[in-house]
This record gives sequence, C-alpha cells and structure tokens, in this order.
Amino acid sequence: MTFTTSFVHAFYADHFVLPLPAGHRFPMAKYARLRSRIAGELPQVQLLEALAASNGELALVHTPAYIEAVSNGSLAPAAQREIGFPWSEAMAERARRSVGATVQACRSAMRGQGVAANLAGGTHHAYADKGGGFCVFNDVAVAARLMQAEHARLHRRSGPLPVAIVDLDVHQGNGTARIFANDPSVFTLSMHGARNFPFRKEPSDLDVDLPDGCDDTTYLEALEQALDELDRRFAPGLVIYLAGADPHEGDRLGRLKLSFDGLEARDRRVMDWAWQRRVPLAFVMAGGYGTDMETTVQVQMHTYRTAVEYWQRWQGPAAPGMRASSGTGHLHDRWQNAAG
Ligand SMILES: [Zn+2]
Repeated sequence: MTFTTSFVHAFYADHFVLPLPAGHRFPMAKYARLRSRIAGELPQVQLLEALAASNGELALVHTPAYIEAVSNGSLAPAAQREIGFPWSEAMAERARRSVGATVQACRSAMRGQGVAANLAGGTHHAYADKGGGFCVFNDVAVAARLMQAEHARLHRRSGPLPVAIVDLDVHQGNGTARIFANDPSVFTLSMHGARNFPFRKEPSDLDVDLPDGCDDTTYLEALEQALDELDRRFAPGLVIYLAGADPHEGDRLGRLKLSFDGLEARDRRVMDWAWQRRVPLAFVMAGGYGTDMETTVQVQMHTYRTAVEYWQRWQGPAAPGMRASSGTGHLHDRWQNAAG
C-alpha cells in the first residue's frame, strides 16, 4: 500500500459486498456510491483499501466466543436477527475490514495527518458479546483500545491515551457506552433522538437527548453545550467522530430536521474543536438512510469537503505541534505536552 502524506487518507471496504435479500432496508450501495463520488470530486482524498482486523485486535473489545461465532457462522438465528444481516462469509469479512478501516484511519490521524477517515464504520450498536442494529463489531471501540495499546508501547511511562468518542449519529451509541462504562480513559459523548432506536439506552459519559423534529439551531446549540462540557471533563489525545448522516431531514429513520447546512456546520464545529486543541481526529460515516440515497451521500460529501479543509490546516505552515516548543514535533509528544 502506497502511503503519502499529501492526501487525506480514507479507507474503504465496500468492494466486500454483503449479500442481502431483495428489498432489505439497509442501503448497502451508499458506500460504493460515496467512494465513487470522492474519487471523482475530491482529488485531495487518497482512497485506500482497508485491511481486516485480526482476532487479537477484535479481542481488545469483543469476547472470544462472539468473535468465533461471527467468524465460523455459528451465530444463532436470533443473534443474526438482532444484527439485521444474515450471516455469510462476506458479512464476517466485511465486518473485519470495517474495523480495520477505522483502526487505520486513527493511526493515520495520530501519525501526523491530523485528520483521516473510514468510508464506512461507526457500528456503535455492537456490544462486547453481541451485535445489533446493522452492527457486527464495534469498530470505534476496537480502534480506541488499539490506539491506546500502541500508544502505551511508545510511551511506557505515561498514562493511557485519552480518547474522546463524539457520536453524532442520530441513534444512541449504546454498545460503545456499555463497552467503556467503567473506563475513565475513554469519554463517550452521544447526541441522539430521545425517541429513536435503541429504546433501552446505555448511559454514556455524556448523553444529549434530542426531541423529534429538532432543527439546526436547537441542534447546534446543544452541540456547543456538549463540547463545552466535554472540555470541562476531559482532555483527549485522539477524537473519533461518528459523523452520522441520519439527523438529516430527508432521512427515513432519523426523526430530526437538520438541513444540509446544519449538518455541515455540525461537522465544521467538531473538526474545528479538535483542531483548536491540536487533537488528531478520525471520522467514520455511521448511519444514513435517506429516502433518496443521494441525500445521505451528499451529507457525507460535505463531511469530506470539510475534512479536506481541516486536513490542510494540519499540513500548513502553521501546523502546530509539528514544531511544538518543548516536544520533539511528533503528534504523540504534542498530546503529552498538552495533557501534561
Ligand atoms: Zn444511526
């Protein structure tokens, strides 16, 4: 795999096609569509094939029994129904690749790119021992733990890498919240529709419940307050951002009323927040179920355009930390300086 620094790295796995029964409501085609639009319209983004996550990596979060059941096809019918996809080898492979894509995006962001992405991912309804809501493995949780392990190898004497998960998919990040419930090194923030799936929510470090029909203004005010609170309580060395497209008014599952502009302002705010603090940010696409699939892809294209802008700031002459006064110039060191 050729890696250059002069592009936003974006990892994909959409060529591992998950076979779904005719009429299945999951818009699988959106991933390939997004990749094709990025290839045609955003030359600053380098599209890279995702590697599959290994059993050892998955086991940072998932139970051996669950990894085994997904791998060999022994998932019980009820467990498959809860996930919402029938088991196939392609389903297992795709799930591993999707985790791998988030891991690679985090690594890229941490190693000097500042911003990097997974063209899928954000499978936040997956728990340690089960999947749910179109989620098999929890990519963001595995990536957070793996980045912490890699960081610990590099910096033996420092504490764990603090990771903030900013989950702005319209559905609550229940699996993620549960996985990190007793882990003070990972801060989970979820902003979601109060009356939307999952109906039994798990407590995150910070949950923001939004009413049905929530508009741009209400949403952006709530986001501002949430980021303020995150600031007061946590100083991340890595942000993983779930940029769900499903709060959009054209989404058939979302129940909120955000416009294209509102969602773009949301993405900009999160990326700006990370940039202001010089914290690397990896983003994943999470949900999007537009009545017209193009609506979902359009929201995601805006996210990528915004990301290109912030990535350019990381690469520019003012890119901070590249020349931090007391550090060696490496992002890890920058974080250590910032976090004390
Ligand atoms: Zn969602």
